[in-house]
Amino acid sequence: MAKKEEILDAAKKVADKVQQKAAEIAADPKVQEVVKAAKEKAAEIADKAAETVQAAAEEIKARAEKVAERSEVKEAAAAAADAAKAAGKAAVAAAKVMATPSEKNVKVITPKMAKIPEGPLEKKWTNYKDHQKLVNPANKRKLDVIVIGTGLAGASAAASLAEMGFNVLNFCIQDSPRRAHSIAAQGGINAAKNYQNDGDSVYRLFYDTIKGGDYRAREANVYRLAEVSNNIIDQCVAQGVPFAREYGGLLDNRSFGGAQVSRTFYAKGQTGQQLLLGAYSALSRQIGKGKVKMYTRYEMLDIVMIKDEQGEPRARGIIARNLVTGRIERFFAHAVVVGSGGYGNTFFLSTNAMASNGSAAMQMYRHGAYFANPCYAQIHPTCIPKHGDFQSKLTLMSESLRNDGRIWVPKKLEDAKKLQAGEIKGRDIPEEDRDYYLERRYPAFGNLVPRDVASRAAKERCDAGYGVNNTGLAVFLDFSDAIKRLGKDVVAQKYGNLFQMYEKIVDENPYENPMMIFPAIHYTMGGIWVDYELQTSVKGLFCIGEANFSDHGANRLGASALMQGLADGYFVLPYTIQNYLADQIGVPRMSTDRPEFEEAEKAVEAKIQKLMAIQGTESVDTIHKRLGLVMWDFVGMGRTAESLKTAIKKIDEIKKDFWSNVYIPGKADALNNELEKALRLADFIEIGRLMALDALNREESCGGHFREEFQTEEGEALRQDDKFSYVACWKYTGEDSEPELIKEPLDYEFTERKTRNYKS
Ligand SMILES: Cc1cc2nc3c(=O)[nH]c(=O)nc-3n(C[C@H](O)[C@H](O)[C@H](O)COP(=O)(O)OP(=O)(O)OC[C@H]3O[C@@H](n4cnc5c(N)ncnc54)[C@H](O)[C@@H]3O)c2cc1C
Repeated sequence: MAKKEEILDAAKKVADKVQQKAAEIAADPKVQEVVKAAKEKAAEIADKAAETVQAAAEEIKARAEKVAERSEVKEAAAAAADAAKAAGKAAVAAAKVMATPSEKNVKVITPKMAKIPEGPLEKKWTNYKDHQKLVNPANKRKLDVIVIGTGLAGASAAASLAEMGFNVLNFCIQDSPRRAHSIAAQGGINAAKNYQNDGDSVYRLFYDTIKGGDYRAREANVYRLAEVSNNIIDQCVAQGVPFAREYGGLLDNRSFGGAQVSRTFYAKGQTGQQLLLGAYSALSRQIGKGKVKMYTRYEMLDIVMIKDEQGEPRARGIIARNLVTGRIERFFAHAVVVGSGGYGNTFFLSTNAMASNGSAAMQMYRHGAYFANPCYAQIHPTCIPKHGDFQSKLTLMSESLRNDGRIWVPKKLEDAKKLQAGEIKGRDIPEEDRDYYLERRYPAFGNLVPRDVASRAAKERCDAGYGVNNTGLAVFLDFSDAIKRLGKDVVAQKYGNLFQMYEKIVDENPYENPMMIFPAIHYTMGGIWVDYELQTSVKGLFCIGEANFSDHGANRLGASALMQGLADGYFVLPYTIQNYLADQIGVPRMSTDRPEFEEAEKAVEAKIQKLMAIQGTESVDTIHKRLGLVMWDFVGMGRTAESLKTAIKKIDEIKKDFWSNVYIPGKADALNNELEKALRLADFIEIGRLMALDALNREESCGGHFREEFQTEEGEALRQDDKFSYVACWKYTGEDSEPELIKEPLDYEFTERKTRNYKS
């Protein structure tokens, strides 16, 4: 009898849940809004779907009650199952309405699936924190978390999780956590402190970020980012990060692109290094206490998935290669957090560190984590131009230089030609013959327009023949005015190390002659899709920092990557991961002898053996360089349907060539740099293709994604909000099949979508 009652009770609960869900779907303002905006037919389907759910729920509730009266337990259970099925079908139908009417088969991620909390924008994060599940201190000690990466995202996450009491296993490719790519960050980190009293606020930082990203980011996440930005500065100051200070001792700020306030905190031109030293100190403390076990010179080569009792796969560990010995090793954890950085090196030449790669992202993708907006790559306007065919790295000149430097090209074509021929220098051209084209085109923001706008404007001038170096692919960044206004000493104080770096590379004194700069690949806004909790579409697998699809939409504003990485690591993930781990406290540590680990390791070894066995004639770099050229020429600053189709074809050829003709010297079971690079290149090839595919799908121009077919008469980006206001999430479907597109519609509840205007 007790069992009968239990089943009846369970059936009733299911019915209640279904009813609740039905009511939620019917009442969801987003469903209502989309339904209203869609064609009449779509509205009918949505209403019908909601009605069906409600009707199914009502029916099952009635049936369950009736059955309960008659004690026909079996029937009650069957009825409950039927109702759940009906409700599921109806919910899917309702969700499909949100897709573009002509693409009803495309799956959609709803705000609920993205776990966006209810309530007003400014209350969402507080509400979330007030209601999330927590793990008590005794249970934290029972839980292990793997963190991949020791950049600002990984190091801050590892240190924070350990400080909270979890056991952390932290991995990085470098010989020290301090050498992660984040160390290269120069210009600064944003926060809405309003120390300058120039009108800044959390809302304004949120708004600038949404607008800067060309209305292609999730509002709730961006607001949270702006909200926690101030905590980051306090945390870093407490760690002793030597931010620049004003005469009175307060922290100083400078301006970055896309903002009309000064909100960028900085430590000379070495902000990333100083912030990383702060995070590293926090991490070292936990290493010392035994809460973080640090694995340097280890590269994750796969994630290990283990099914739970319900048959759902969960991330439960990794396979990693010891880069010094070549040994493949297995590691278990209750959750895996990946902060592996961006995939800009797909282009071969970029401002990223040489070891930056997209392989961890591809490993997640192959296990079912969606790859979101892969085509959103940032081209930074102020890099030292490429100077030869044997170059393997590009160098950034920080955006902070645009605070005082003025960008120009000659007004006269004959002057440009003389510059290109080396007959004159920039300083020889008189003021009246200089075209400060950013100030001319964008009077309100001038030299501080966002990066995508500045890069395209430089390309436009160079394409028109006004480029200023021997290749015609450079513009001037000139400090002569700033030196006159502030004096050389002040300029040197602010930017000295950058000027020195420029002089070392170009062999020209930038105090005397204007710097030459040109756009280069710098950052990837796209990345692994995460929900509001920073969890990927795979249970137990989290992604932070530049590796996730982030809060920057189609274009990142300067000084916002450090903010996002540290927000994720110090202030967001440490909360949200608990909501997941709270349900894992009963999961015991698992042996790495399990078949899932065995299989994953074997697959990794087989891939390595396959690569080593090729013994072809082309070096990894030769093939990578070829990929880079295809990416730059066909998936670069200006893209067309035709160029993207060509790119896909060429990348497929490169893939074939790579897998049949790459040459990797040395052995697999020893230190082998070429093998490391080959494994990464195999993934860059896949990412390059995914970028081209995504760019082809997105028939609009937004942020860093510029489709030449979609531009205004003045050459500005032309968005198609009615068709492309969504996050494009690509789902892996197998090695030789095209990925499936899933959309997360982006509704702007709290901001009005506008055409970006930096002119007035
Ligand atoms: C030259 C330059 C200057 C910049 N300046 C600024 C700036 O002034 N302000 C700003 O906001 N942003 C700036 N950026 C951007 C910013 O530096 C990066 O976006 C940010 O540092 C990325 O941090 P991260 O922690 O996500 O990743 P990263 O710092 O790239 O760290 C990635 C980590 O993951 C590890 N890893 C990767 N794959 C694996 C694997 N398979 N197994 C094990 N470990 C792995 C790496 O070893 C590394 O430790 C700049 C970028 C560049 C290139």
